[in-house]
Amino acid sequence: MRVALYIRVSTKLQEERFSLSAQEKELLEYAISKNWTVVEILKDVDSGGKLEKKGLNELMDLAEEGSIDVVLCIDQDRLSRLNTVEWEFLKDVLRDNNVKIAEPGSMVDLKNEDQEFISDIKNLIAKLEKRKIVRRMMRGKRQKLREGQGWGKAPLGYKFNKTTKKYELDENWSWVIPFIDDLYLTKNLGMIVIAHELNKISKTPSGRFWNETLVQRRLLSKAFHGVMEKTFSNGETISIDGIYPPLRTEETWKQIQMEREKRKTRFKVDARQNENIHFLRQTFITCGHCSRKLHVANHGTKTHSNYYIKHGRKLKLKDRSVCDISINTIRFDDKLTLAIKDILKSEEIAKRYINLESNDQEINLLKRSIKAGEKSLKQLQEKRDKLLDLFLDGEFPKNTLNEKNAILEKERLNQEKIYLQQKAKLDALEKNSWNYDLIYEYLEIAENLDELTHLEKVQLIGNLFPTATCYKDRLVLVAELEQGFPVEFEIPIEPDPFAWHHTKNK
Ligand SMILES: [Zn+2]
Repeated sequence: MRVALYIRVSTKLQEERFSLSAQEKELLEYAISKNWTVVEILKDVDSGGKLEKKGLNELMDLAEEGSIDVVLCIDQDRLSRLNTVEWEFLKDVLRDNNVKIAEPGSMVDLKNEDQEFISDIKNLIAKLEKRKIVRRMMRGKRQKLREGQGWGKAPLGYKFNKTTKKYELDENWSWVIPFIDDLYLTKNLGMIVIAHELNKISKTPSGRFWNETLVQRRLLSKAFHGVMEKTFSNGETISIDGIYPPLRTEETWKQIQMEREKRKTRFKVDARQNENIHFLRQTFITCGHCSRKLHVANHGTKTHSNYYIKHGRKLKLKDRSVCDISINTIRFDDKLTLAIKDILKSEEIAKRYINLESNDQEINLLKRSIKAGEKSLKQLQEKRDKLLDLFLDGEFPKNTLNEKNAILEKERLNQEKIYLQQKAKLDALEKNSWNYDLIYEYLEIAENLDELTHLEKVQLIGNLFPTATCYKDRLVLVAELEQGFPVEFEIPIEPDPFAWHHTKNK
């Protein structure tokens, strides 16, 4: 038997028995006692959870080259504190190449299903262990914050200096906050206009257009006068001064909050006549059954609104059927507000609306979809090249070329957007940075939804959920996180209270 020894120590968990040299000694002795030929000794020092490891990659190379029969490690945990997809991938490589996993005293043959089951169980336990580590990390972060040390993604206008472990100004973006403050306080402009002014200069650092909500977040945030404030999943809020070099004074921040209150009351009076706009008015809704656009139509009277989500006109589909989805919004109106409150309450409750677990299926689907996207983008480019060739051959005039190119470019931008979103999502899933805190941060701004004027509500919902898909029994709202990927919120639609009416008419 030809064997590779695989040794890994976590940087954080350097227990005696698991130190590099102790593992190496134990494994070598075992291999020798079995009369195996040691082909290679592979080592990784890592915190686990990631497959980008030199030793592991070499291990897979050896397996694929057919130069080993067994990989020997202290216990499978050394191999399997990977997420499920990576573990499946590694297992596939080992299985395809007839490589068994051995621990001193036992050997797992991945071709045998029972044993694979055992190894899956072990992998699951390793994952639970990892979750514990994450929890411990969160505890550590709280502690760090209490001690006055910052952590996490730098707010707009700052960057984290890894050497000094402090936040510094990011010269590229530090102009934004004073710019917003000036327009808001001195020039007395509203947030929508400010977003518009910002867009004239630049998109956000993640390449999105500025909108009212993005501006509002910056007006509300205490980060810009130096304060790091974090609410943890357990409800505790910690707030520490002097984490960021200030871009505005606390005085200015207070002034902004006062100004906001003032404008809110002024707005409330003006907004009365706008009450008959549904709060999904700014959201682009697509039909989940026929993929066409859906509208929010008011079928009520002047004094009493009654909204329906439905198609603009009945259009026959290719198979001659007609999609006549029509949903009275009272079937979900309250649910949506409730959902936002629920999600902010706790991670457990949030799971009713959002899929917070990343499963293999989702990751595999994403990977496949990204591959398909890559291919399709390449094909689009080829089409453009061909078009140019045909034009140069004199097949059609310049304006035809321009027209066709414009269509292709529009399609490319569309596809590229989806492609980049999917990549960002996959990245977050694989780095395990996809978690409840991201959602919390995103929705926090809607915490006091009830206090907003109706128009503010419409705008906020529209900004939080730019798109949605409506099915007969559920509404799927899509949020675009600043990290660059979409998250789906599923709101159930209650059964139609007037259903008896329809059946009677049929
Ligand atoms: Zn439809």
